[in-house]
Amino acid sequence: MILLTRKAEFSASHYYWNDDWSAEENARVFGKCANRNGHGHNYTLEVTVAGDVDPVTGFVVDLKQLKDVMEKEVIAAYDHRHLNLEVPEFKTTIPTTENIAVEIFWRLRGKIPGNARLHRVRVYEMPDLFADFYGGF
Ligand SMILES: [Zn+2]
Repeated sequence: MILLTRKAEFSASHYYWNDDWSAEENARVFGKCANRNGHGHNYTLEVTVAGDVDPVTGFVVDLKQLKDVMEKEVIAAYDHRHLNLEVPEFKTTIPTTENIAVEIFWRLRGKIPGNARLHRVRVYEMPDLFADFYGGF
Protein backbone atom coordinates (compact mmCIF):
# COMPACT_ATOMS: atom_id res chain seq x y z
CA MET A 1 0.00 0.00 0.00
CA ILE A 2 1.14 3.52 -0.72
CA LEU A 3 -0.20 6.95 0.17
CA LEU A 4 -0.51 9.72 -2.38
CA THR A 5 -1.47 13.32 -1.63
CA ARG A 6 -2.88 15.96 -3.93
CA LYS A 7 -3.18 19.63 -2.94
CA ALA A 8 -5.67 22.26 -3.93
CA GLU A 9 -6.43 25.76 -2.70
CA PHE A 10 -9.61 27.68 -2.11
CA SER A 11 -10.51 31.03 -0.65
CA ALA A 12 -13.58 31.40 1.51
CA SER A 13 -15.20 33.51 4.20
CA HIS A 14 -16.64 32.37 7.48
CA TYR A 15 -17.56 33.34 11.01
CA TYR A 16 -17.96 31.34 14.19
CA TRP A 17 -21.33 31.42 15.86
CA ASN A 18 -23.42 29.11 18.02
CA ASP A 19 -27.14 29.88 17.75
CA ASP A 20 -27.75 28.35 21.16
CA TRP A 21 -25.68 31.09 22.81
CA SER A 22 -26.23 34.78 23.41
CA ALA A 23 -24.26 37.34 21.42
CA GLU A 24 -22.16 37.94 24.54
CA GLU A 25 -21.33 34.25 24.90
CA ASN A 26 -20.41 33.97 21.22
CA ALA A 27 -18.15 37.01 21.54
CA ARG A 28 -16.56 35.60 24.70
CA VAL A 29 -15.79 32.20 23.15
CA PHE A 30 -15.07 33.12 19.54
CA GLY A 31 -13.71 36.66 19.89
CA LYS A 32 -13.22 38.47 16.59
CA CYS A 33 -14.27 35.32 14.71
CA ALA A 34 -17.85 35.90 15.93
CA ASN A 35 -18.22 39.00 13.73
CA ARG A 36 -21.27 38.07 11.63
CA ASN A 37 -19.90 39.89 8.58
CA GLY A 38 -17.25 37.19 8.36
CA HIS A 39 -13.62 37.23 7.33
CA GLY A 40 -11.63 35.33 4.74
CA HIS A 41 -8.89 32.74 4.53
CA ASN A 42 -6.84 31.17 1.78
CA TYR A 43 -7.25 27.49 2.60
CA THR A 44 -5.00 24.70 1.43
CA LEU A 45 -6.58 21.28 1.06
CA GLU A 46 -4.57 18.07 0.99
CA VAL A 47 -6.36 14.88 0.01
CA THR A 48 -4.45 11.67 0.69
CA VAL A 49 -5.52 8.43 -0.93
CA ALA A 50 -4.27 4.94 -0.12
CA GLY A 51 -3.98 1.93 -2.35
CA ASP A 52 -1.74 -0.35 -4.29
CA VAL A 53 0.31 0.80 -7.25
CA ASP A 54 -1.22 -0.41 -10.50
CA PRO A 55 1.54 -2.47 -12.15
CA VAL A 56 0.42 -1.32 -15.61
CA THR A 57 0.22 2.44 -15.06
CA GLY A 58 2.44 2.84 -12.01
CA PHE A 59 -0.34 4.92 -10.42
CA VAL A 60 -2.22 4.45 -7.20
CA VAL A 61 -4.83 6.78 -8.63
CA ASP A 62 -5.29 8.69 -11.87
CA LEU A 63 -4.15 12.18 -10.86
CA LYS A 64 -6.31 13.98 -13.40
CA GLN A 65 -9.39 12.10 -12.20
CA LEU A 66 -8.52 12.83 -8.56
CA LYS A 67 -8.07 16.53 -9.37
CA ASP A 68 -11.42 16.57 -11.17
CA VAL A 69 -13.19 14.98 -8.18
CA MET A 70 -11.62 17.52 -5.78
CA GLU A 71 -12.65 20.36 -8.09
CA LYS A 72 -16.20 19.13 -8.53
CA GLU A 73 -16.94 18.05 -4.97
CA VAL A 74 -15.03 20.67 -2.96
CA ILE A 75 -13.52 23.58 -4.83
CA ALA A 76 -16.63 24.34 -6.89
CA ALA A 77 -18.70 24.35 -3.69
CA TYR A 78 -16.30 26.22 -1.37
CA ASP A 79 -14.10 28.56 -3.42
CA HIS A 80 -15.04 32.24 -3.15
CA ARG A 81 -18.04 31.36 -0.98
CA HIS A 82 -19.19 32.49 2.38
CA LEU A 83 -19.17 29.10 4.05
CA ASN A 84 -21.83 29.89 6.68
CA LEU A 85 -24.24 31.38 4.16
CA GLU A 86 -23.63 29.48 0.93
CA VAL A 87 -22.50 25.95 1.79
CA PRO A 88 -25.33 23.75 3.11
CA GLU A 89 -23.36 21.76 5.70
CA PHE A 90 -22.27 24.96 7.45
CA LYS A 91 -25.76 26.28 7.99
CA THR A 92 -25.82 24.14 11.13
CA THR A 93 -22.14 23.29 11.64
CA ILE A 94 -19.61 25.94 12.64
CA PRO A 95 -17.02 26.15 9.81
CA THR A 96 -13.91 25.72 11.90
CA THR A 97 -10.83 24.20 10.31
CA GLU A 98 -11.72 20.95 12.07
CA ASN A 99 -15.26 20.86 10.73
CA ILE A 100 -14.18 21.86 7.24
CA ALA A 101 -11.81 18.86 7.18
CA VAL A 102 -14.62 16.58 8.36
CA GLU A 103 -17.14 17.86 5.83
CA ILE A 104 -14.67 17.64 2.95
CA PHE A 105 -13.97 14.05 3.94
CA TRP A 106 -17.67 13.19 3.70
CA ARG A 107 -17.94 15.01 0.39
CA LEU A 108 -15.10 12.93 -1.07
CA ARG A 109 -15.80 9.58 0.53
CA GLY A 110 -16.78 6.97 -2.05
CA LYS A 111 -15.81 9.28 -4.93
CA ILE A 112 -12.11 8.48 -5.21
CA PRO A 113 -11.48 7.07 -8.69
CA GLY A 114 -10.14 3.60 -9.37
CA ASN A 115 -9.20 1.25 -6.57
CA ALA A 116 -7.72 3.86 -4.21
CA ARG A 117 -9.56 4.83 -1.04
CA LEU A 118 -9.74 8.10 0.82
CA HIS A 119 -7.22 8.03 3.67
CA ARG A 120 -7.00 11.55 5.07
CA VAL A 121 -8.22 15.07 4.51
CA ARG A 122 -5.95 17.85 5.77
CA VAL A 123 -7.08 21.45 5.72
CA TYR A 124 -4.77 24.38 6.37
CA GLU A 125 -6.48 27.57 7.43
CA MET A 126 -3.09 29.26 7.50
CA PRO A 127 0.45 27.93 7.17
CA ASP A 128 0.78 27.25 10.90
CA LEU A 129 -2.66 25.72 11.49
CA PHE A 130 -4.17 22.60 10.03
CA ALA A 131 -6.64 19.86 10.90
CA ASP A 132 -6.57 16.20 9.83
CA PHE A 133 -9.56 13.89 9.49
CA TYR A 134 -9.30 10.17 8.80
CA GLY A 135 -12.98 9.34 8.80
CA GLY A 136 -13.21 8.09 12.38
CA PHE A 137 -13.78 9.77 15.69
ZN1 LIG B 1 -11.30 32.48 10.33
